[in-house]
Amino acid sequence: MASQDAKPDWGSDSRPTPTLALKQALCFSCWDVSSHLRRCTACKRVSYCSVKCQKQDWNRHHKKICKKLVALNKQKGYVPSPGRQWKDHHNERVLDILRSGAQIPNELGRLVGYEPYCYRCYRQEVQLEDGAKLNACQFCHLTSFCTSCPQTHPSTECATLQDIAADDRILVDLYQRTGKTSAISFTMLPRKQYLPLSSATDWYDYYTKLSDKIGSSSRMNRDLRYQANDSKERQSIEYMRYGTNTTTIQLTLVAALEAIIPTISSQRSLNLHIIGAAGAEFSSAPAFEELLHLLPSLKALHISFVGPNVETQNPYPVQCCKMCTMMGRSTSIAVWRGPYHVYVDTESYQTPDLAAAFHSGFAVDEQAEWYPTIKYLANAPHPTLFTAAIYFEIEGEMGVWNYLGAGFAKNPEVNKWKGMSPSLVMCGDKPNEVCYNNYWWYIVQKR
Ligand SMILES: [Zn+2]
Ligand SMILES: [Zn+2]
Ligand SMILES: [Zn+2]
Ligand SMILES: [Zn+2]
Ligand SMILES: [Zn+2]
Repeated sequence: MASQDAKPDWGSDSRPTPTLALKQALCFSCWDVSSHLRRCTACKRVSYCSVKCQKQDWNRHHKKICKKLVALNKQKGYVPSPGRQWKDHHNERVLDILRSGAQIPNELGRLVGYEPYCYRCYRQEVQLEDGAKLNACQFCHLTSFCTSCPQTHPSTECATLQDIAADDRILVDLYQRTGKTSAISFTMLPRKQYLPLSSATDWYDYYTKLSDKIGSSSRMNRDLRYQANDSKERQSIEYMRYGTNTTTIQLTLVAALEAIIPTISSQRSLNLHIIGAAGAEFSSAPAFEELLHLLPSLKALHISFVGPNVETQNPYPVQCCKMCTMMGRSTSIAVWRGPYHVYVDTESYQTPDLAAAFHSGFAVDEQAEWYPTIKYLANAPHPTLFTAAIYFEIEGEMGVWNYLGAGFAKNPEVNKWKGMSPSLVMCGDKPNEVCYNNYWWYIVQKR
């Protein structure tokens, strides 16, 4: 439990466990790759490189969850393979998460949700014949096969999973070197002239035309893959690509501002509200400077993080870069803990130019908690940007907005500024389903 005056440290957001570690391809404690990983003999769900790492993780967390995992294992018997369908496995997994009492996405929930299973017969290891083990794909390490099934999966799918594994390695490297888990790569110096973000066709265009990475343009492809052979430069381009998963927040905001404010190029101040702000928004906070750097006439940027998961009521100290400070520009970040529809009746509230709720999932999770806020936003005196990773969520959300009679400044569409790094969906509709941060976006507005 965080103490009352605890301030989240921006540099070290709570460690999101790499998918490779959840799939037992890395030491669960230090995240090192080791050829001698040993599993917890009780639950068989986590692996360690050494006794020291095992002890550390036991004291950190594992003693609280090992027993629950053992209990889940006991509830599964031998499952014969013929006729077993994906939905059988999927339903069992959802049930497992419910039985574990895990709040998603905490570590227990993620361990249960990402438990390895055979790609072909959908059996988990405890469901195999006595003592049989799953083998991980030797290329991506993220999908597994039982010894009775063919040991391959489609190469395009494997390639996508290899991307996830590669990003995991970037995360591990970054964390081990700096204690941070998000890479932020944005424009170093403020632009002198406004160039609409809408004039860029993709992240490559943004980095090389609007931002300041022109020097790398010939050595990477449009997909931000490095094409030359310099390890330092390779790393910086890998960080650019990986960083899109964080700065997708800021670029999506700029794109939304361009869509709703025709005079954005001459706007001098902006007031933005981030609704339901949590870890992802907080760890991306330093990148809000990008708004000042892409919008040259902007002098004052005011951002309020509002939501029940905001950890503190204290204002956040933020400092602009030297250039911006010299030009008399400022950013301020206020935080307010509680639901947005309650916040609007407080003295702190000032009508924003734009509000935004990233990955709210309001039609899927915590519907009752979200509903009063959603109902308020349908008629709010400002537009609100929403994003989702999966189309299924958008469908649910459109049902709610139509019921509330809301209008749209932008209908749902694929977001040009979605994150480029895939992540594995925990309980997907099919094996190895992946999603991308802020894949879909739309803007709601009073009719
Ligand atoms: Zn270790
Ligand atoms: Zn265990
Ligand atoms: Zn199998
Ligand atoms: Zn593979
Ligand atoms: Zn600056």
